[in-house]
Amino acid sequence: MSNIEMTTYATKELVVNWHITEACNYKCDYCFAKWNSNTKEILHSISKIEAVLTQIECIRHLFNTKSNKILFENLRLNLVGGETFLYEKQLRNIISLSKKYGFKLSAITNGSLFNSDNIEFIAQNFSSIGISVDSLNKDTNLMIGRSSKKKVFDYQETLLAINQMREINPNLDFKINTVVNKLNFSENLSDFIQQVKPRKWKVFKLLPIYSDKLEIQDHEFYSFIKTHAHLSEIMSIENNDDMTESYLMIDPLGRFFQNGIERGYNYSSPLCEVSADFALKQINFDTNKFISRYKRII
Ligand code: SF4
Repeated sequence: MSNIEMTTYATKELVVNWHITEACNYKCDYCFAKWNSNTKEILHSISKIEAVLTQIECIRHLFNTKSNKILFENLRLNLVGGETFLYEKQLRNIISLSKKYGFKLSAITNGSLFNSDNIEFIAQNFSSIGISVDSLNKDTNLMIGRSSKKKVFDYQETLLAINQMREINPNLDFKINTVVNKLNFSENLSDFIQQVKPRKWKVFKLLPIYSDKLEIQDHEFYSFIKTHAHLSEIMSIENNDDMTESYLMIDPLGRFFQNGIERGYNYSSPLCEVSADFALKQINFDTNKFISRYKRII
C-alpha cells in the first residue's frame, strides 16, 4: 500500500465576470455599470482582448495552486455590460479568442437586442443566457428606465426570442435576473417565469451603489419573495451581503474591481498591463476567502 496521501478535491467551474462595455441602450435608474473612464474600452482592440484573456486563464491556475480543497476544472467567462450584445463585431472577436482557451461562455443581457440576424449566433456560442427582467408593465419599465429611444422593454418579444433560441440549441440554459425595487416589489411575475422555465431565477435586492432613489426595505423585498414562494425551487435570492463579496469582476478597461467601503469601486491596473496575480493583490482580493466560500454564483 502506498504512503502517498491522496487529497480529495471538490471540482468546480470558475466564473469570471467581464463587463465588456459600459454602453447600453437602456438607462435604468439603479444601473451600476458606470466606470466613469474616458479611456477607450478594450473590446475595441484585439491585442488587448487577447492579453486580458491570457490573464483570465491564469486566474484559474493561480487559485488551483493556492487551494487544497477545490480544483477549478474549467472557466466560464460571463460577459456582461452595459448591454453585452450592443457591439456585435467586437463580441464575435471576444468569442473566437475565448475559444482558443476553451472557456465556456455565458452572457447577461437586457434582452432588447435579440433579432433574426443574431439569434442563431447567440444560441450556438453560449451555454447560458441571463436576461434581466424587472417588470412586465410598460409604465413601470419606463419609470425604471428599461427603455431605449425607440422602445420600452417588451417581455413578449423576449419570450419569442427565447423559444427560437431553444429550437436552435435545446441545451442552452436561460436564467432570469430581477432587481426588486420600489417600483416592482408588489408585482407578480409568476406567469412569465412559468412560461420561460428558466434554470434559475436570480432575485436581487436593489444594491444602491450609485443611486438609492428606488431602494427598498427588507420587508418589501421579502414580500416580493413571498408572492413568488411557489417558485422557490428555481429562485435564488441574493441580498447585498451575498453580492458584495462573491464576484470576480473585470471592468471594460480590463481592471478587476470590487465594491469599495464607500459608494463606488476599488480598481486594479488593467490586465493587459499587469499579471492577474499582481492585479488581485492591488485590490486586496482575499483569494482564500473567495475559494472557501466559492459557490456557483451566476
Ligand atoms: S440594462 Fe443593465 S446596463 Fe443597461 S442601463 Fe439597465 S442596468 Fe444598466
